[in-house]
Amino acid sequence: MRLAPVTFTPRIFQADPDGGYHWTEVGIFAYKAEGSAPFKDVTRQVLFDEPEMGCQWRYFEVAPGGHTTLERHEHVHAVMILRGSGIALVGTHVSAFAAYDLFRVPPLTWHQFRASDDEPMGFLCLVRSERDRPQLPTVDDLAELRSVAEIARAIRV
Ligand code: MN
Repeated sequence: MRLAPVTFTPRIFQADPDGGYHWTEVGIFAYKAEGSAPFKDVTRQVLFDEPEMGCQWRYFEVAPGGHTTLERHEHVHAVMILRGSGIALVGTHVSAFAAYDLFRVPPLTWHQFRASDDEPMGFLCLVRSERDRPQLPTVDDLAELRSVAEIARAIRV
């Protein structure tokens, strides 16, 4: 049996030879527009943007002590921690995490990922291509979240 010839150009982006969490041909961008939402020291790389599969696969890196936006939205996140460690809020659940842990963020669920103070933290995040914009917590939402001491300690806004 013979293999069919490859008729397309595979996109093989090599990992940075210096060992960083970036890839040839993949741009490193700001996580979000500056001032659009509260976050600290996060970069964004879109590894795959696949309309046919209906998804985007991104890599986010958070500097030591940094954090993503506390937000919620209709679309789901499938997350794998790739490096580092930290604290996550998903819904009302606060958890310490480390490399290779998985998170599923269900629809309309508050979530935030925060890096430990001593090392960068990076995670892969799969989302659908067509998705709603994140909602930020109102003053009332924040008061409700902070009524749980563990959540009050975990979140950054
Ligand atoms: Mn999100």
